[in-house]
Amino acid sequence: MLINMSTKATKEEINHVIERIRECGFQAHVIEGAERTVIGAVGNSGRRSEIEALRAAPGVEDVIQIAHPFKLVSRQLKPTRTIVEVGGVRIGAEDAVVMAGPCSVESEDQLMQTAYAVQAAGARLLRGGAYKPRTSPYDFQGLGVEALGFLKQASSATGLPIVTEVMSEVDVETVAEYADMLQVGARNMQNFSLLRKLATVKRPILLKRGPSATIKEWLLAAEYLLAGGNANVVLCERGIKTFETATRNTLDLAAVALVKELSHLPVIADPSHGTGLRNLITPMAKAAIAAGADGLMIEVHPCPERALSDGPQSMDLPGFAELMKQLGQDRVRQFKAA
Ligand code: PEP
Ligand code: MN
Repeated sequence: MLINMSTKATKEEINHVIERIRECGFQAHVIEGAERTVIGAVGNSGRRSEIEALRAAPGVEDVIQIAHPFKLVSRQLKPTRTIVEVGGVRIGAEDAVVMAGPCSVESEDQLMQTAYAVQAAGARLLRGGAYKPRTSPYDFQGLGVEALGFLKQASSATGLPIVTEVMSEVDVETVAEYADMLQVGARNMQNFSLLRKLATVKRPILLKRGPSATIKEWLLAAEYLLAGGNANVVLCERGIKTFETATRNTLDLAAVALVKELSHLPVIADPSHGTGLRNLITPMAKAAIAAGADGLMIEVHPCPERALSDGPQSMDLPGFAELMKQLGQDRVRQFKAA
């Protein structure tokens, strides 16, 4: 970090800042310019927040961060890309990986039909919500443990590993018993007690970006997982809130490209929640892969008009098969179906 002293800073004020930098566990490097003094706080093991607080010290004009506040997720620390393995499927390797399935698990029949179809079309993981974070308490809230049982059954029948959302700390153990990968939903991205708990489970985590989260906040949420001991984290861009109302969210594909530069973790995109519109899923799925996404999450329902959640953004079974066919033909990135 750099501490930019004011042009009017006195010798005492400069010396005080140097002393504080040392007290906080950093080395102080002083650069005396013609007009002002700049002091670098150098080192890995100091207390950064206390250096940031020096903004309030007399004679200090600004404190500028040079290194990223997220360390473990950053490529500055680990330049090689991380590959996250979920039930034998490698995310972040050569192939783009597609996770597909219904928004909510509604019945055994609905899930089995979808699971067989997405597997046949080339999806590598099965998704499906058992615990649903719904905006209204009057909407379908998910079948809970019963849905987890259906997901397990569908996984055994198709060989597809399962990814499903865990909404609360109290459900972590139960969901981890059934699922191969645990999803942190967008609304829970900054549920820090949930993140701390998930850092201790032996399951990979899919961390969705919060609807109003900056990239820094998203990566710091991932940092909680890595700092707590879980290195198997996949990030998912699922659209953010903007002034636009024509789409449900604004799928931020620049974030996909940027996060691939900033972090070694795999990044996938969810054009279903990212647009809310079925017709936009194929173009945005292609665009996400072109931007560097390591995979996609797609909502699929055997009869979207009857879906209990997110019908308008769900593809039907033939629609999904066509999307997979087109992704295979595009070859922007190596693409291997199951
Ligand atoms: C979901 O994947 O079904 C979901 C609720 O997504 P998000 O948390 O991105 O809204
Ligand atoms: Mn959904």
